[in-house]
Amino acid sequence: MGVMGATAASDESMPSVKIQGPYARNLAYSRLSARTWQMTVRNDWTRDEARALHDLPLTDLLFRAQEVHRATQPRDAVQLCSLLSIKTGACQEDCSYCPQSSKYDTGVEAERLMDVAEVLLKAREAKEAGASRFCMGAAWRSPKKGSRQFQQVLEMVRGVRSLEMEACVTLGMLDDEQTQELKDAGLTAYNHNLDTSEEYYGEIITTRTYKDRLDTIARVAAAGISVCAGGIIGMGESIDDRVGMLVTLANLSPQPESVPVNALVPVPGTPLGDRKPVDPLELVRMCAAARIMIPGARVRLSAGRASLSREAQLLCFMAGANSLFFGDKLLTTGNPDHDADLSLLRDAGLSALAPASDAAE
Ligand code: SF4
Repeated sequence: MGVMGATAASDESMPSVKIQGPYARNLAYSRLSARTWQMTVRNDWTRDEARALHDLPLTDLLFRAQEVHRATQPRDAVQLCSLLSIKTGACQEDCSYCPQSSKYDTGVEAERLMDVAEVLLKAREAKEAGASRFCMGAAWRSPKKGSRQFQQVLEMVRGVRSLEMEACVTLGMLDDEQTQELKDAGLTAYNHNLDTSEEYYGEIITTRTYKDRLDTIARVAAAGISVCAGGIIGMGESIDDRVGMLVTLANLSPQPESVPVNALVPVPGTPLGDRKPVDPLELVRMCAAARIMIPGARVRLSAGRASLSREAQLLCFMAGANSLFFGDKLLTTGNPDHDADLSLLRDAGLSALAPASDAAE
C-alpha cells in the first residue's frame, strides 16, 4: 500500500495539494475539504470488494470515480496517444481476438518491420496532430535476441524521445537484457496487457501463460520503465473475470501507470469473430472501477471506441478515462477519425494533456 502524497492545507477555499507523479505540476483543485486528505494507493484489493464497487448503482459509481479522478488527475484533460503497428501480422501467438495471429485466416497481410525513418515521420505527424505519446506495436511473441530488428526498435524509441514525446512499445515477452536496453534507449512505458482474469485466460490464449505476462510486467517495472497493462471485455468472460483482472492490476506494486480498457472488436476469422459487441455502459463501469482502484493511472480508452457514441465516450471520461488513441487505425482495427476526436474534446471543453514532464527532458 502506498500514499499518493496529497495533503490539504488550512485554506478551505483553495487548499494546496501536493501530488507526486508525472502531472504534479498540472494539478490544481478548488474543491477539497479542509481536513487532511490522502489518496491511498492500495495493493490489497479483494475480489469481493472490487465486485461490490463494480456493481454499485451507476450514478454512485460515477460519482466516486469522479471524486478520485479530480483528486489524482489533471481535470478536464485527456492524453492523446497515437498507435502505430510497426510490424504487422504473422504472429506465432494464438490470442483469440487478434487478427494478426498466424493461426487465423483474417486477411491481414503480414508486413516486415517498418523503417526507422518512416516510423519517425509518423511520430512527427502524430505530434503535430496533438499526440503526446507515440506507441509502437510489433506482432512478435518476443523480440529476437540480439537481432537487427530489435536494434531498429531501440532506434525508434530514441527517435521518438528526441521529439519530446512519450514513447511506448509493445513487443511481446522480454528478457532482462532487452528490458534494460529499452530502458537505456529512454523508453517511457511498455505495454503488456493481462487481457482478462487468470481463470479465463486459458480460454483466450494457449501459447503463453498468465505467469509469463506477469513476469514480463515485473521485469519492466523493476527496470524503472512505466507499465501499461489492461485488458479486453466482451470476450465471453464473466463479470467476476473482469473484476479479477482489475484486482490483479491494482495489486501490482507499483500499480500500472496506464490501464487500457478495451472492448472486443470482433474480427471475422478469429475465434471471437462472432461475439456480440458489449453494452457501452459495461465499458463505463470498467473505466470507473479502474479509476478508483488504480487512482494514479491514466485510464486509456482503446479498442472498441469506434463503436461508442460521443455520449458514451463522454460517460467514459466522467468515469475517469483520460487517455485515448487517435488516428485512423488501432493496430489493425478501425478507430474514430482525428477530426471527430478533436471536435468531441472541443465540444466537451476538454484539452489535450502535454507529455509527462520527464518526456520533455
Ligand atoms: S495480440 Fe499480440 S501477441 Fe497476441 S496474436 Fe496479436 S500480435 Fe500476437
